[in-house]
Formats: sequence, structure tokens, C-alpha cells
Amino acid sequence: MPTNGISRRSVLAAGAATGALAATGVITAPAAHAAAPTLPNGTSLDKVLVVGMDGLRYDRIDAADAPNLKAMMANGTYGLSLLYANPMAATSSGPGWSTISTGVWPDKHGVRDNTFTGRNYGRYPGFLARLNQVRPGLSLFAAVDWPELDTYGTVTPGADAKLVYNNNYVVNDKVITDATEDILRNQNPDVLFVYFGETDEIGHNYGAASPKYLDAIAVQDGYLGRLRAAIKARPSYASERWTVIIATDHGHTDAGGHGGSSIEERRTFVLAEGPGIAAGARPIDTRLVDVAATVFRQLGITPDPAWGLDGKPIQQRSTDPFDALQPSLTGRVDETGIPAGVLGFTHTVPSGWSVINNAMGTGGMTEWRGWSFATDEFWSRTQRDQSRELNVRARGVFAVADSDEWADKAFSGTYDSTLVSPAYGVSGASRVTLDFTTFYRQEGSQTAQVLASFNGGTPTLVKSYTVDVISQPQSLAVNVPTGASSVSFRFRYTGSNNWYWVIDGVRISTS
Ligand SMILES: [Zn+2]
Repeated sequence: MPTNGISRRSVLAAGAATGALAATGVITAPAAHAAAPTLPNGTSLDKVLVVGMDGLRYDRIDAADAPNLKAMMANGTYGLSLLYANPMAATSSGPGWSTISTGVWPDKHGVRDNTFTGRNYGRYPGFLARLNQVRPGLSLFAAVDWPELDTYGTVTPGADAKLVYNNNYVVNDKVITDATEDILRNQNPDVLFVYFGETDEIGHNYGAASPKYLDAIAVQDGYLGRLRAAIKARPSYASERWTVIIATDHGHTDAGGHGGSSIEERRTFVLAEGPGIAAGARPIDTRLVDVAATVFRQLGITPDPAWGLDGKPIQQRSTDPFDALQPSLTGRVDETGIPAGVLGFTHTVPSGWSVINNAMGTGGMTEWRGWSFATDEFWSRTQRDQSRELNVRARGVFAVADSDEWADKAFSGTYDSTLVSPAYGVSGASRVTLDFTTFYRQEGSQTAQVLASFNGGTPTLVKSYTVDVISQPQSLAVNVPTGASSVSFRFRYTGSNNWYWVIDGVRISTS
């Protein structure tokens, strides 16, 4: 949020809320007395409420009086993750809410800070705008009191009715709750997006470590409770299938503030309860882009690949073989800047995989001696602001070859390590396709090669990386030689002090 040129103090001092803008654009009653707008009658028994809570640090919820968030964690699925940082985008509200609404990362939606310069909502619209296109009969509602989310078209386009207030959150979060509760009790909406800003405001003014921050979480939890109760009180509730999703746009430092690359500023979560969403699940592969994909799934809408979504529904588990290593993750050895309790790396390989290190030099940082498997938090804690925060399309545990970090302790020789996949059957196929995500930073004489070996024969080059690739999906198709029955892929990296290569989400298919 909320750095929009007006000082927060002056907004608070100004006190009164502005009027509400109805769907028609007409100023209605002053906010404190705002009546709920009238929505078209809904057409779906599958219904979704998304509640956005600005700057809500997930590791503070436990300490807060927040029975509704905690009930949702027990009844639903709760996925923690970290955001990008600059140079992709700041950990601020413009990029955060754009990521939540559009379901794509900032390198697609284009919003890198709170100026919204570069926004590309035409190509990557918010989920309400997309729903309005593909299922115009849905009754769609949005309410925000960070008005930029309306001004720039982040959230409100496509809504059949919207409430937009100024950022006097202590007043207007409640006004939004009053109106939304009224709509839930007395009308028939299908999809609602509601925004609360006070957690971020208090985070800025008092810090995320302050008792006041816990109080702000408790207030918002109470608003959430009123909305959940209103849903359950609907006369038609028994025949409806409701999903409630909570998400935040960024974290906060303990002292208050965000925008930078610290873990605390990058902390986000997606919390969802509803049909098909497991109770008590804590997936390691959830990311902030998953909110929009979950909305579509719960409405029975299959996204068109042309939409270019980066997210997946929160109940859909990754098939990534590296994620199976989570129980093997351990704490730091030589990386003394990483807190000892952060369990995030291993040299254990997934079943069927292997690492060839016979050309590796000796010594160096233990964690990064040859291909390793690591989490976003562990790897990006090694050194801030060297772009490791930009690994957005990796999920959970990924494979990383980091000669830059390896070289931070005395070593001899060079970094030369090869990650080898299992042998996959290709009998009868004419082509085999290797899909994965990659994040590669090039420097000097560093090399990164993908090779294929059929029937255990000499590996041949499929792809060589020579320029930066900032967290992108890759799809490499290889012809299967006549008579071949199996293929194994190799990822060979050689480098020195700078930089690294990340591989994740490896999938093989044949045709
Ligand atoms: Zn803020």
C-alpha cells in the first residue's frame, strides 16, 4: 500500500470518508451511511468471496486474537510463500494486488511499484474482468478503500457494482464490511472481492512487532467473521458451494515498512476454504499467483492457455520430483548469515536422479558444492539483492547450481556439476518433450547445458544457455532416434564467482 503521495497522517486527520461510487459512477450517500448497491441476481451455486488484507504478515497471525483466520486454517488450505523483489518489482501494494488479481507475475502484468506505470491489464485482466468476459451472467461485486485499485483498473473492472472509498481505513474497512455483509445476507452475489487496509496502516505507523499490529489483525478477523457468518446465514446456503479466500499483497519489517527485499517484506500467503480444498493442508508449492486460478477452479472455469496464467488452484499439488525432498531439508552449514532454524537445503537427490561431481573442485561453501536442492527462503537468504528473489516460477523445493555462493569460502579447482534425470521410457514415440522452469544468470565463461542421452548413450546437446533467463518456462522437444527405448536428461553447469542456474518443475512427455 499506500504510499500515494498523501501522508497517512493527514488522511487520518481529515477524518470523514468520501462518498461511495456506485456502478453507475454516481456519488451515493456518504460512506458512513452507505447503502449496499443493488447487484444483478446471481446465476451460480458455486460462489467465491476473496478478502484481501493489506500488509498482513502471516507469522503474526498466531499471536493475534484471530479465531476466524485460525478456523479457516483448520478447515482449509494455507500456503505460505515469498514474493519477488526489485528489479522485478517492489514488495509494495501495486505489484502485490496486481499479482493477486491477474494471476500472473509482475514481468507479465507490468506493475512494478505504486505508480502502476507499465500496467498491462488489457493483456492480463483482473479475475473479475475475466469472469465478466467469459461468464457475463455472474453477479460480481468489488469493494476497496485503497482507491488506486479502482483508479488503475487493478481489481474493480468487470464488477456489476463497486464501492470505492478513500484510504481512511479505520473508518472505511468497517463501511465495506457493513455493505458486503448486507449484500451477502440480502442479495444473491456470485463472486466478491473485498479489500481491507488497516493492517498495513498500523504496520507502517507502529511496526509489525507492535501490539497494535496484533490488534489490527483482530479487528480485520472480526470483519472476516461477520462475512463468514453472513454466508452461513443465507437461506439458500445449504444448496450453495461457497469458497472463501484470504490473501495479502506483501509483508512488513518488524519496525514497519516494506518495498524492499527482506524475507519479512516478501512474506505472503494464500488461505482458502471451500469444496475440494483440503482441511489443514500446508502445501509448499503455493504462490501468490494462485488466487485467481483458485477462483476460476471453484467456479468450474478452465482457464484458456492463451490467458497466460502463472497460477494453479490451491488444491492442485505439484508433481515436481524435487518437492519430494522436503523431509530431507536441513539447516545451514557454512552459510552463517542464514538463521539456524531455517531448514532449506539438501544434497539428497530424488529417487532415480543423480549428481555427477567428479569434475568439481574441492572446498567451497558446503551447501553449494555441486547441484543442491533448496527452498526460496533458504537460497535467497544467502545474499540479498543479487536477483535470487526473482525465482518466481519455481515452487517448493528446486534444484540449484550456485557457483557464486560456492566461491564464498576457500576452494580449489572449478565448479563443474551435472544433474542427471531418471531414464524415461520413449518406446514407440517420435518426440520427447522436456518441460521445466529455469532461472539463469550468465557471467563470463560460465556454461549451462541441457543434454539428452538415449539408451544410455553419449549425451548430445539439446540447449545451451548463454544469456540471462529470469524465471521462465522452457519446453525442449527432441526427436527420438529409431529404436530408442529410454531417454535421460542432464543439466551441466560450469562457472565461477557469479552466478547460478535453477531448475524446477521437470516434466517429460512423448508424442
Ligand atoms: Zn504499505
